[in-house]
Amino acid sequence: MSSAMESDYEVVHSKAKVFYETYARKEELQHQTHYCPGCGHGIVHKMLAKAIDELGIQNQTVLISPVGCSVFAYNYFDVGNIQAAHGRAPAVATAAKRSHPHSIVISYQGDGDLSAIGAAEILHAANRGENITVLFVNNAIYSMTGGQAAPTTLLGQKSTTTPFGRNAANEGYPLRMSELLATLDAPVYIERVGLGDNKQIAQAGRAVKRAVENQVRGLGFSMIEVLSPCPTIWKMSAVEAQHWVRDVMEKTYPLGVVCDRTKDREPRVATNHAPSLEEIPAILGIEHEDLPHIPITSNEASHVDLHVRVAGFGGQGVLLLGEVLAEAGLDAGLEVSWLPSYGPEMRSGTSNCHVRVSNEPIDSPLVTVPNFLIAMNEPSLRKFDLSVQTGGWVIYNGDVFPDDCEREDVNVLALNFTQAANELGDPRAANMVMLGALLEISGALPQPSIDEALHRLVKSERWYQLDERALARGRELYRETHKHPIDQDLFPGTPKEVAV
Ligand code: SF4
Repeated sequence: MSSAMESDYEVVHSKAKVFYETYARKEELQHQTHYCPGCGHGIVHKMLAKAIDELGIQNQTVLISPVGCSVFAYNYFDVGNIQAAHGRAPAVATAAKRSHPHSIVISYQGDGDLSAIGAAEILHAANRGENITVLFVNNAIYSMTGGQAAPTTLLGQKSTTTPFGRNAANEGYPLRMSELLATLDAPVYIERVGLGDNKQIAQAGRAVKRAVENQVRGLGFSMIEVLSPCPTIWKMSAVEAQHWVRDVMEKTYPLGVVCDRTKDREPRVATNHAPSLEEIPAILGIEHEDLPHIPITSNEASHVDLHVRVAGFGGQGVLLLGEVLAEAGLDAGLEVSWLPSYGPEMRSGTSNCHVRVSNEPIDSPLVTVPNFLIAMNEPSLRKFDLSVQTGGWVIYNGDVFPDDCEREDVNVLALNFTQAANELGDPRAANMVMLGALLEISGALPQPSIDEALHRLVKSERWYQLDERALARGRELYRETHKHPIDQDLFPGTPKEVAV
Protein backbone atom coordinates (compact mmCIF):
# COMPACT_ATOMS: atom_id res chain seq x y z
CA MET A 1 0.00 0.00 0.00
CA SER A 2 1.39 3.41 -0.91
CA SER A 3 2.00 5.91 1.91
CA ALA A 4 -0.70 8.22 0.44
CA MET A 5 -3.26 5.43 0.68
CA GLU A 6 -2.04 4.41 4.16
CA SER A 7 -2.92 7.85 5.48
CA ASP A 8 -6.48 7.50 4.14
CA TYR A 9 -7.20 4.06 5.56
CA GLU A 10 -6.93 2.30 8.87
CA VAL A 11 -5.28 -1.08 8.47
CA VAL A 12 -7.51 -3.64 10.20
CA HIS A 13 -6.18 -6.88 8.75
CA SER A 14 -2.61 -7.38 7.68
CA LYS A 15 -0.17 -10.17 7.20
CA ALA A 16 0.72 -11.88 10.48
CA LYS A 17 3.95 -10.54 11.98
CA VAL A 18 5.44 -14.01 12.08
CA PHE A 19 5.32 -14.31 8.29
CA TYR A 20 8.32 -13.01 6.40
CA GLU A 21 7.69 -9.80 4.49
CA THR A 22 8.79 -11.49 1.29
CA TYR A 23 9.43 -15.14 0.72
CA ALA A 24 12.82 -16.53 -0.25
CA ARG A 25 11.62 -17.84 -3.59
CA LYS A 26 12.19 -16.90 -7.22
CA GLU A 27 12.14 -13.15 -7.63
CA GLU A 28 8.74 -12.98 -9.29
CA LEU A 29 7.17 -15.29 -6.65
CA GLN A 30 8.29 -13.59 -3.45
CA HIS A 31 4.83 -12.41 -2.46
CA GLN A 32 3.01 -15.71 -2.83
CA THR A 33 3.33 -19.20 -1.44
CA HIS A 34 3.99 -22.28 -3.54
CA TYR A 35 0.61 -23.81 -2.67
CA CYS A 36 -1.99 -24.36 -5.40
CA PRO A 37 -5.05 -22.06 -5.47
CA GLY A 38 -7.66 -23.43 -3.06
CA CYS A 39 -5.16 -25.53 -1.10
CA GLY A 40 -5.83 -25.83 2.63
CA HIS A 41 -2.18 -25.42 3.63
CA GLY A 42 -2.26 -21.64 3.13
CA ILE A 43 -5.28 -21.40 5.45
CA VAL A 44 -3.68 -23.56 8.13
CA HIS A 45 -0.47 -21.51 7.88
CA LYS A 46 -2.50 -18.39 8.47
CA MET A 47 -4.19 -19.90 11.54
CA LEU A 48 -0.89 -20.96 13.00
CA ALA A 49 0.67 -17.57 12.29
CA LYS A 50 -2.26 -15.82 14.00
CA ALA A 51 -1.95 -18.07 17.05
CA ILE A 52 1.80 -17.40 17.30
CA ASP A 53 1.23 -13.64 17.03
CA GLU A 54 -1.59 -13.61 19.58
CA LEU A 55 0.33 -15.72 22.07
CA GLY A 56 3.47 -13.62 21.57
CA ILE A 57 5.71 -16.65 21.10
CA GLN A 58 7.46 -15.94 17.81
CA ASN A 59 10.92 -15.91 19.36
CA GLN A 60 10.32 -19.24 21.10
CA THR A 61 8.66 -21.12 18.26
CA VAL A 62 10.31 -23.96 16.38
CA LEU A 63 8.45 -25.29 13.37
CA ILE A 64 9.23 -28.78 12.15
CA SER A 65 8.28 -29.39 8.55
CA PRO A 66 8.84 -32.80 7.01
CA VAL A 67 8.32 -34.19 3.52
CA GLY A 68 5.06 -33.30 1.76
CA CYS A 69 3.49 -30.26 0.16
CA SER A 70 4.36 -28.21 3.25
CA VAL A 71 8.05 -28.98 2.84
CA PHE A 72 8.81 -25.30 2.15
CA ALA A 73 7.02 -23.94 5.25
CA TYR A 74 10.37 -22.50 6.34
CA ASN A 75 10.09 -20.00 3.50
CA TYR A 76 7.12 -18.36 5.18
CA PHE A 77 7.48 -18.53 8.98
CA ASP A 78 10.07 -16.31 10.60
CA VAL A 79 10.67 -18.73 13.49
CA GLY A 80 13.17 -21.48 14.21
CA ASN A 81 12.74 -23.99 11.40
CA ILE A 82 13.85 -27.60 11.22
CA GLN A 83 13.39 -29.84 8.22
CA ALA A 84 12.71 -33.45 9.19
CA ALA A 85 12.99 -36.69 7.23
CA HIS A 86 9.73 -38.21 6.03
CA GLY A 87 7.47 -39.06 8.99
CA ARG A 88 10.12 -38.22 11.59
CA ALA A 89 8.84 -34.80 12.64
CA PRO A 90 7.49 -36.00 16.04
CA ALA A 91 10.89 -37.51 16.87
CA VAL A 92 12.67 -34.31 15.85
CA ALA A 93 10.10 -32.27 17.76
CA THR A 94 10.74 -34.42 20.83
CA ALA A 95 14.45 -33.70 20.65
CA ALA A 96 13.92 -29.98 20.09
CA LYS A 97 11.46 -29.70 22.97
CA ARG A 98 13.46 -31.75 25.43
CA SER A 99 16.69 -29.95 24.71
CA HIS A 100 14.98 -26.54 24.79
CA PRO A 101 12.01 -26.97 27.15
CA HIS A 102 11.03 -23.32 26.88
CA SER A 103 10.62 -23.46 23.13
CA ILE A 104 7.20 -23.95 21.55
CA VAL A 105 7.54 -26.79 19.07
CA ILE A 106 5.05 -27.34 16.27
CA SER A 107 5.15 -30.52 14.21
CA TYR A 108 3.38 -29.72 10.93
CA GLN A 109 2.54 -32.89 9.01
CA GLY A 110 0.46 -34.16 6.13
CA ASP A 111 -1.52 -37.39 6.20
CA GLY A 112 0.87 -39.45 4.07
CA ASP A 113 3.68 -38.34 6.36
CA LEU A 114 1.93 -38.77 9.71
CA SER A 115 -0.28 -41.81 9.15
CA ALA A 116 1.95 -43.96 6.90
CA ILE A 117 5.73 -43.72 7.11
CA GLY A 118 5.53 -41.73 10.36
CA ALA A 119 2.83 -43.78 12.08
CA ALA A 120 5.24 -45.16 14.68
CA GLU A 121 6.75 -41.74 15.45
CA ILE A 122 3.42 -40.03 16.08
CA LEU A 123 2.09 -42.99 18.08
CA HIS A 124 5.03 -42.99 20.46
CA ALA A 125 5.29 -39.21 20.75
CA ALA A 126 1.59 -39.15 21.67
CA ASN A 127 1.99 -42.07 24.05
CA ARG A 128 4.87 -40.32 25.81
CA GLY A 129 2.68 -37.24 26.04
CA GLU A 130 5.41 -35.01 24.63
CA ASN A 131 4.60 -31.38 25.28
CA ILE A 132 4.39 -30.53 21.58
CA THR A 133 1.66 -29.40 19.21
CA VAL A 134 0.94 -31.41 16.07
CA LEU A 135 -0.92 -29.94 13.12
CA PHE A 136 -2.08 -32.86 11.01
CA VAL A 137 -3.27 -31.70 7.59
CA ASN A 138 -5.38 -34.53 6.17
CA ASN A 139 -6.34 -34.36 2.50
CA ALA A 140 -6.79 -38.11 2.17
CA ILE A 141 -4.04 -38.62 -0.41
CA TYR A 142 -0.32 -38.28 -1.11
CA SER A 143 -0.34 -34.92 -2.87
CA MET A 144 3.27 -33.89 -3.35
CA THR A 145 4.20 -37.15 -5.02
CA GLY A 146 1.28 -37.05 -7.44
CA GLY A 147 -1.75 -38.68 -5.83
CA GLN A 148 -1.02 -42.14 -4.45
CA ALA A 149 -3.39 -43.64 -1.90
CA ALA A 150 -2.62 -42.86 1.74
CA PRO A 151 -3.88 -44.71 4.82
CA THR A 152 -6.46 -41.89 5.05
CA THR A 153 -7.82 -42.29 1.49
CA LEU A 154 -11.58 -42.78 1.58
CA LEU A 155 -13.27 -46.01 0.53
CA GLY A 156 -14.05 -45.71 -3.16
CA GLN A 157 -11.68 -42.74 -3.62
CA LYS A 158 -9.59 -43.00 -6.78
CA SER A 159 -5.87 -42.45 -6.67
CA THR A 160 -2.95 -43.41 -8.89
CA THR A 161 -2.50 -46.58 -6.82
CA THR A 162 -6.24 -47.27 -6.42
CA PRO A 163 -7.45 -46.44 -9.95
CA PHE A 164 -10.77 -48.22 -9.38
CA GLY A 165 -11.28 -46.66 -5.98
CA ARG A 166 -10.03 -47.75 -2.56
CA ASN A 167 -11.40 -51.16 -1.72
CA ALA A 168 -11.40 -52.30 1.92
CA ALA A 169 -10.65 -55.88 0.85
CA ASN A 170 -7.44 -54.75 -0.86
CA GLU A 171 -6.29 -51.60 0.90
CA GLY A 172 -8.02 -51.80 4.27
CA TYR A 173 -10.13 -49.06 5.82
CA PRO A 174 -9.33 -45.35 6.19
CA LEU A 175 -7.22 -44.84 9.27
CA ARG A 176 -8.73 -42.46 11.82
CA MET A 177 -5.54 -41.25 13.46
CA SER A 178 -7.25 -38.89 15.88
CA GLU A 179 -9.47 -41.61 17.31
CA LEU A 180 -6.54 -44.03 17.40
CA LEU A 181 -4.33 -41.63 19.36
CA ALA A 182 -7.19 -40.67 21.66
CA THR A 183 -7.25 -44.26 22.98
CA LEU A 184 -3.87 -43.53 24.61
CA ASP A 185 -3.78 -42.11 28.12
CA ALA A 186 -1.23 -39.36 27.55
CA PRO A 187 -2.61 -36.99 24.87
CA VAL A 188 -4.24 -33.97 26.42
CA TYR A 189 -6.23 -32.57 23.53
CA ILE A 190 -7.15 -33.90 20.09
CA GLU A 191 -9.68 -32.25 17.84
CA ARG A 192 -10.67 -32.77 14.22
CA VAL A 193 -11.64 -29.66 12.30
CA GLY A 194 -12.44 -28.96 8.66
CA LEU A 195 -11.94 -26.25 6.08
CA GLY A 196 -15.26 -27.04 4.36
CA ASP A 197 -16.91 -23.63 4.91
CA ASN A 198 -16.37 -20.39 6.79
CA LYS A 199 -17.91 -21.67 10.00
CA GLN A 200 -15.63 -24.68 10.00
CA ILE A 201 -12.63 -22.47 9.26
CA ALA A 202 -13.44 -20.19 12.20
CA GLN A 203 -13.63 -23.23 14.52
CA ALA A 204 -10.39 -24.61 13.07
CA GLY A 205 -8.61 -21.36 13.92
CA ARG A 206 -9.80 -21.55 17.53
CA ALA A 207 -8.68 -25.18 17.82
CA VAL A 208 -5.22 -24.46 16.43
CA LYS A 209 -4.71 -21.65 18.93
CA ARG A 210 -5.92 -23.83 21.78
CA ALA A 211 -3.53 -26.62 20.84
CA VAL A 212 -0.58 -24.20 20.86
CA GLU A 213 -1.76 -22.64 24.09
CA ASN A 214 -1.86 -26.05 25.79
CA GLN A 215 1.85 -26.35 25.06
CA VAL A 216 2.54 -22.86 26.41
CA ARG A 217 0.76 -23.96 29.60
CA GLY A 218 2.91 -27.12 29.68
CA LEU A 219 -0.06 -29.50 29.53
CA GLY A 220 1.33 -32.05 27.08
CA PHE A 221 0.55 -33.52 23.68
CA SER A 222 -2.10 -31.78 21.54
CA MET A 223 -3.02 -32.56 17.96
CA ILE A 224 -5.38 -30.85 15.55
CA GLU A 225 -6.40 -32.85 12.50
CA VAL A 226 -7.50 -30.53 9.72
CA LEU A 227 -9.59 -31.93 6.85
CA SER A 228 -8.11 -29.92 4.04
CA PRO A 229 -8.88 -29.50 0.33
CA CYS A 230 -6.39 -30.52 -2.34
CA PRO A 231 -8.08 -29.33 -5.55
CA THR A 232 -5.11 -30.20 -7.76
CA ILE A 233 -4.83 -33.88 -6.93
CA TRP A 234 -8.55 -34.35 -6.40
CA LYS A 235 -8.99 -32.80 -9.87
CA MET A 236 -11.66 -30.36 -8.69
CA SER A 237 -12.11 -26.62 -8.70
CA ALA A 238 -11.23 -24.83 -5.47
CA VAL A 239 -14.94 -24.47 -4.61
CA GLU A 240 -15.76 -28.10 -5.41
CA ALA A 241 -12.85 -29.24 -3.27
CA GLN A 242 -14.02 -27.17 -0.33
CA HIS A 243 -17.51 -28.65 -0.63
CA TRP A 244 -16.05 -32.16 -0.88
CA VAL A 245 -14.39 -31.67 2.51
CA ARG A 246 -17.71 -30.78 4.08
CA ASP A 247 -20.03 -33.12 2.16
CA VAL A 248 -17.87 -36.22 1.69
CA MET A 249 -14.76 -36.32 3.86
CA GLU A 250 -16.60 -35.42 7.00
CA LYS A 251 -18.73 -38.57 6.75
CA THR A 252 -15.63 -40.73 7.26
CA TYR A 253 -13.89 -38.27 9.55
CA PRO A 254 -16.48 -36.66 11.85
CA LEU A 255 -15.52 -33.23 13.17
CA GLY A 256 -15.29 -32.38 16.83
CA VAL A 257 -13.21 -32.80 19.95
CA VAL A 258 -11.94 -36.37 20.09
CA CYS A 259 -10.35 -36.07 23.50
CA ASP A 260 -9.96 -33.21 25.95
CA ARG A 261 -8.17 -33.79 29.25
CA THR A 262 -7.02 -30.23 29.73
CA LYS A 263 -9.11 -29.77 32.87
CA ASP A 264 -7.55 -32.79 34.57
CA ARG A 265 -3.97 -32.01 33.70
CA GLU A 266 -1.39 -30.09 35.62
CA PRO A 267 1.64 -28.68 33.82
CA ARG A 268 4.07 -31.50 33.23
CA VAL A 269 7.16 -31.52 35.36
CA ALA A 270 10.14 -33.27 33.85
CA THR A 271 11.24 -36.00 36.25
CA ASN A 272 14.81 -36.03 35.09
CA HIS A 273 17.21 -33.61 33.57
CA ALA A 274 19.91 -33.98 30.98
CA PRO A 275 23.14 -34.70 32.88
CA SER A 276 25.93 -32.19 32.69
CA LEU A 277 29.10 -33.18 30.87
CA GLU A 278 30.86 -33.51 34.21
CA GLU A 279 28.28 -36.06 35.42
CA ILE A 280 28.51 -38.33 32.38
CA PRO A 281 31.70 -40.28 33.26
CA ALA A 282 30.24 -41.31 36.63
CA ILE A 283 26.94 -42.35 35.00
CA LEU A 284 28.84 -44.47 32.47
CA GLY A 285 31.08 -45.94 35.17
CA ILE A 286 34.24 -44.51 33.65
CA GLU A 287 37.10 -44.20 36.14
CA HIS A 288 38.91 -40.90 36.34
CA GLU A 289 42.16 -42.44 35.14
CA ASP A 290 40.41 -43.70 31.98
CA LEU A 291 39.48 -40.18 30.90
CA PRO A 292 41.38 -38.48 28.09
CA HIS A 293 44.46 -36.94 29.57
CA ILE A 294 47.01 -36.72 26.81
CA PRO A 295 47.32 -33.19 25.56
CA ILE A 296 48.39 -32.60 21.99
CA THR A 297 51.96 -31.44 22.23
CA SER A 298 53.01 -28.37 20.38
CA ASN A 299 55.10 -30.26 17.86
CA GLU A 300 52.09 -32.42 16.94
CA ALA A 301 49.36 -31.02 14.75
CA SER A 302 48.15 -27.70 16.11
CA HIS A 303 45.27 -27.68 13.68
CA VAL A 304 43.62 -30.95 12.76
CA ASP A 305 40.83 -31.42 10.23
CA LEU A 306 40.71 -34.98 8.97
CA HIS A 307 37.87 -36.05 6.67
CA VAL A 308 38.53 -39.75 6.20
CA ARG A 309 36.64 -42.35 4.20
CA VAL A 310 37.65 -45.96 4.80
CA ALA A 311 36.26 -48.60 2.45
CA GLY A 312 36.71 -52.29 1.75
CA PHE A 313 35.06 -55.66 2.09
CA GLY A 314 33.30 -56.72 5.29
CA GLY A 315 35.86 -58.62 7.40
CA GLN A 316 38.84 -56.46 6.36
CA GLY A 317 38.62 -54.39 9.54
CA VAL A 318 37.30 -51.24 7.87
CA LEU A 319 35.15 -50.22 10.82
CA LEU A 320 37.84 -51.00 13.41
CA LEU A 321 40.32 -48.84 11.52
CA GLY A 322 37.87 -45.95 11.68
CA GLU A 323 37.12 -46.58 15.33
CA VAL A 324 40.78 -46.57 16.33
CA LEU A 325 41.26 -43.28 14.52
CA ALA A 326 38.18 -41.71 16.13
CA GLU A 327 38.99 -43.05 19.62
CA ALA A 328 42.55 -41.77 19.35
CA GLY A 329 41.18 -38.35 18.44
CA LEU A 330 38.86 -38.50 21.42
CA ASP A 331 41.74 -39.45 23.67
CA ALA A 332 43.70 -36.48 22.37
CA GLY A 333 40.85 -34.16 23.33
CA LEU A 334 39.69 -33.52 19.77
CA GLU A 335 36.19 -33.43 18.29
CA VAL A 336 35.46 -36.70 16.50
CA SER A 337 32.72 -38.58 14.67
CA TRP A 338 32.61 -42.11 13.32
CA LEU A 339 29.79 -43.19 11.05
CA PRO A 340 29.69 -46.79 9.80
CA SER A 341 27.90 -47.80 6.65
CA TYR A 342 27.63 -51.39 5.52
CA GLY A 343 25.45 -53.66 3.45
CA PRO A 344 23.38 -56.54 4.82
CA GLU A 345 26.25 -59.00 4.41
CA MET A 346 28.72 -58.65 7.26
CA ARG A 347 31.38 -60.79 5.59
CA SER A 348 32.49 -60.20 2.00
CA GLY A 349 29.87 -57.51 1.54
CA THR A 350 31.03 -53.93 1.07
CA SER A 351 31.64 -51.80 4.08
CA ASN A 352 32.79 -48.25 4.63
CA CYS A 353 32.91 -45.66 7.32
CA HIS A 354 33.22 -41.91 7.66
CA VAL A 355 35.60 -40.48 10.25
CA ARG A 356 36.05 -36.85 11.19
CA VAL A 357 38.76 -35.67 13.58
CA SER A 358 39.08 -31.98 14.19
CA ASN A 359 39.87 -29.42 16.80
CA GLU A 360 36.83 -27.44 15.63
CA PRO A 361 33.22 -28.52 16.32
CA ILE A 362 32.08 -31.02 13.68
CA ASP A 363 29.06 -29.91 11.67
CA SER A 364 28.26 -33.24 10.03
CA PRO A 365 29.58 -36.78 10.47
CA LEU A 366 29.21 -37.39 6.73
CA VAL A 367 32.43 -37.36 4.76
CA THR A 368 31.47 -36.70 1.17
CA VAL A 369 34.72 -35.03 0.08
CA PRO A 370 37.48 -36.83 2.01
CA ASN A 371 41.01 -35.53 2.35
CA PHE A 372 42.02 -39.15 2.99
CA LEU A 373 40.61 -42.20 1.26
CA ILE A 374 41.73 -45.58 2.52
CA ALA A 375 40.64 -48.03 -0.16
CA MET A 376 41.25 -51.59 0.96
CA ASN A 377 40.27 -53.09 -2.38
CA GLU A 378 39.79 -52.08 -6.00
CA PRO A 379 35.96 -51.77 -5.99
CA SER A 380 36.25 -49.32 -3.08
CA LEU A 381 38.89 -47.32 -4.92
CA ARG A 382 36.68 -47.11 -7.99
CA LYS A 383 33.69 -46.11 -5.91
CA PHE A 384 35.29 -43.28 -3.94
CA ASP A 385 38.38 -42.17 -5.88
CA LEU A 386 36.68 -39.26 -7.59
CA SER A 387 35.31 -37.91 -4.33
CA VAL A 388 38.76 -37.20 -2.85
CA GLN A 389 39.54 -33.55 -2.28
CA THR A 390 42.16 -31.97 -4.56
CA GLY A 391 45.49 -32.26 -2.77
CA GLY A 392 44.16 -35.11 -0.62
CA TRP A 393 45.50 -38.62 -0.27
CA VAL A 394 44.45 -42.01 -1.63
CA ILE A 395 45.97 -44.90 0.31
CA TYR A 396 45.30 -47.95 -1.80
CA ASN A 397 45.81 -51.60 -0.93
CA GLY A 398 47.23 -52.83 -4.24
CA ASP A 399 50.60 -53.08 -6.01
CA VAL A 400 49.40 -51.37 -9.12
CA PHE A 401 47.20 -48.34 -9.12
CA PRO A 402 44.64 -48.79 -11.93
CA ASP A 403 45.49 -46.43 -14.82
CA ASP A 404 41.91 -45.30 -15.24
CA CYS A 405 41.71 -44.24 -11.59
CA GLU A 406 44.75 -42.00 -11.70
CA ARG A 407 44.25 -38.34 -10.90
CA GLU A 408 46.83 -35.62 -11.25
CA ASP A 409 45.49 -33.59 -8.37
CA VAL A 410 45.71 -36.11 -5.51
CA ASN A 411 48.58 -37.92 -3.75
CA VAL A 412 48.70 -41.68 -3.92
CA LEU A 413 50.26 -44.34 -1.74
CA ALA A 414 49.60 -47.66 -3.48
CA LEU A 415 51.18 -50.71 -1.87
CA ASN A 416 50.31 -54.27 -1.12
CA PHE A 417 49.44 -53.64 2.52
CA THR A 418 47.98 -57.12 2.88
CA GLN A 419 51.36 -58.60 2.03
CA ALA A 420 53.08 -56.25 4.47
CA ALA A 421 50.72 -57.43 7.20
CA ASN A 422 51.28 -61.04 6.20
CA GLU A 423 55.01 -60.58 6.68
CA LEU A 424 54.25 -59.37 10.22
CA GLY A 425 52.29 -62.52 10.97
CA ASP A 426 48.68 -62.06 9.81
CA PRO A 427 47.25 -60.52 6.59
CA ARG A 428 44.22 -59.32 8.58
CA ALA A 429 46.36 -56.61 10.14
CA ALA A 430 46.46 -54.78 6.77
CA ASN A 431 43.96 -52.26 8.14
CA MET A 432 46.43 -51.13 10.83
CA VAL A 433 49.32 -50.94 8.37
CA MET A 434 47.20 -48.58 6.27
CA LEU A 435 46.19 -46.59 9.34
CA GLY A 436 49.87 -46.27 10.26
CA ALA A 437 50.54 -44.74 6.85
CA LEU A 438 47.69 -42.25 7.29
CA LEU A 439 48.93 -41.26 10.75
CA GLU A 440 52.42 -40.71 9.42
CA ILE A 441 51.22 -38.58 6.51
CA SER A 442 48.85 -36.45 8.55
CA GLY A 443 50.90 -36.19 11.74
CA ALA A 444 47.53 -35.44 13.29
CA LEU A 445 47.59 -37.51 16.46
CA PRO A 446 50.10 -38.23 19.20
CA GLN A 447 51.29 -41.83 19.46
CA PRO A 448 50.17 -42.25 23.12
CA SER A 449 46.58 -41.50 22.09
CA ILE A 450 46.78 -44.11 19.36
CA ASP A 451 48.18 -46.68 21.80
CA GLU A 452 45.43 -45.85 24.26
CA ALA A 453 42.71 -46.23 21.63
CA LEU A 454 44.12 -49.54 20.49
CA HIS A 455 44.19 -50.78 24.07
CA ARG A 456 40.55 -49.91 24.54
CA LEU A 457 39.35 -51.49 21.31
CA VAL A 458 41.57 -54.54 20.89
CA LYS A 459 41.14 -56.86 23.83
CA SER A 460 43.42 -59.71 22.77
CA GLU A 461 47.03 -59.11 23.80
CA ARG A 462 48.29 -61.01 20.73
CA TRP A 463 46.28 -58.77 18.42
CA TYR A 464 47.27 -55.65 20.29
CA GLN A 465 50.95 -56.48 19.84
CA LEU A 466 50.43 -57.31 16.17
CA ASP A 467 48.44 -54.12 15.53
CA GLU A 468 51.12 -52.00 17.19
CA ARG A 469 53.73 -53.52 14.87
CA ALA A 470 51.38 -53.03 11.92
CA LEU A 471 50.92 -49.34 12.70
CA ALA A 472 54.68 -48.87 12.96
CA ARG A 473 55.18 -50.74 9.68
CA GLY A 474 52.65 -48.48 7.96
CA ARG A 475 54.56 -45.41 9.10
CA GLU A 476 57.81 -46.94 7.81
CA LEU A 477 56.32 -47.88 4.46
CA TYR A 478 55.20 -44.33 3.92
CA ARG A 479 58.60 -42.92 4.89
CA GLU A 480 60.39 -45.40 2.62
CA THR A 481 58.34 -44.44 -0.39
CA HIS A 482 57.64 -40.71 -0.03
CA LYS A 483 59.64 -37.71 0.86
CA HIS A 484 57.98 -34.86 -0.93
CA PRO A 485 56.46 -31.88 0.87
CA ILE A 486 52.97 -32.07 2.27
CA ASP A 487 50.29 -29.57 1.36
CA GLN A 488 50.17 -27.28 4.40
CA ASP A 489 46.74 -25.95 3.48
CA LEU A 490 45.22 -29.39 3.77
CA PHE A 491 47.26 -30.68 6.68
CA PRO A 492 48.53 -27.69 8.63
CA GLY A 493 50.80 -28.64 11.45
CA THR A 494 52.40 -31.54 9.63
CA PRO A 495 56.11 -31.39 8.82
CA LYS A 496 56.92 -29.94 5.41
CA GLU A 497 59.51 -32.56 4.64
CA VAL A 498 59.15 -36.13 5.72
CA ALA A 499 62.42 -37.73 6.82
CA VAL A 500 63.53 -40.91 5.08
S1 SF4 B 1 -1.04 -30.58 -4.47
FE1 SF4 B 1 -2.78 -30.38 -3.08
S2 SF4 B 1 -1.91 -30.26 -1.02
FE2 SF4 B 1 -0.28 -29.90 -2.49
S3 SF4 B 1 -0.14 -27.68 -2.69
FE3 SF4 B 1 -1.50 -28.41 -4.32
S4 SF4 B 1 -3.54 -28.34 -3.48
FE4 SF4 B 1 -2.13 -28.19 -1.77
